[in-house]
Amino acid sequence: MLKIIQLLVLTDNYIYLIHDEVSGETAVVDPAVAEPVLDYLAKQGWQLKYVLNTHHHLDHVEGNTALKQNTGCKVIAGQSDAQRIPDFDSGVSEGDELFLGEHKIRVIATPGHTSGHVVYLFEQDELLFCGDTLFVMGCGRLFEGSPEQMYASLTKLKALPCETKVYCAHEYTQANGRFALSVEPDNQALQAKILRVAQLRNNNQPTVPSTIAEERATNPFFRADSLSVQNTLGLIGSKSVEVFTALRKRKDVF
Ligand code: ZN
Ligand code: FE
Repeated sequence: MLKIIQLLVLTDNYIYLIHDEVSGETAVVDPAVAEPVLDYLAKQGWQLKYVLNTHHHLDHVEGNTALKQNTGCKVIAGQSDAQRIPDFDSGVSEGDELFLGEHKIRVIATPGHTSGHVVYLFEQDELLFCGDTLFVMGCGRLFEGSPEQMYASLTKLKALPCETKVYCAHEYTQANGRFALSVEPDNQALQAKILRVAQLRNNNQPTVPSTIAEERATNPFFRADSLSVQNTLGLIGSKSVEVFTALRKRKDVF
């Protein structure tokens, strides 16, 4: 069994600690800061094996150096980000596999938010750590990639098994939900989701993780082929990638 620890830092960033109880191995995804991670590791007596970075933005890597100094862990990130990840050790690309104990981690390349963005899929466990590519009811801004690239990246994630848990790097859910509802006001799954999300936030609870099934039903960026999204944009019958492009532009100024 894997234990997942979710640490909220810097107002809306999530850091994830993943611990395999059988082997005793631990990984951390996107440590924006080191202190709470080091504190948690010390409290549990866990040894850190890997830092897994999804991309180079500071709010995902600033804990790397202190974590490596204090634990001797290895820092893993997309190979093309080798020059811009602090304390980088080894690069991964599409299809590469890593192991935490006997749990296989598959790397999926998801350029779009940044050119070197990768996500980490624990295949048998159905856990996806997707950084700033996919958010609950949203997706990352296109800082370094084209809409075509991002759409191809999201299409890979959309194809994962329904029950896959989606652990994204930010608590952006409520704002994303407002945009999603503006695009699909009649989507009942979305309406219900927004109510659940409001309850969670009122109780100061995380809305992450979501699942791939929930994202298919509610995330407009997964729904470029749906009639209701196309209708709102005045793009009925257009190619999905064109609908996605219009959607992303609309969100940028929402
Ligand atoms: Zn980012
Ligand atoms: Fe970020």
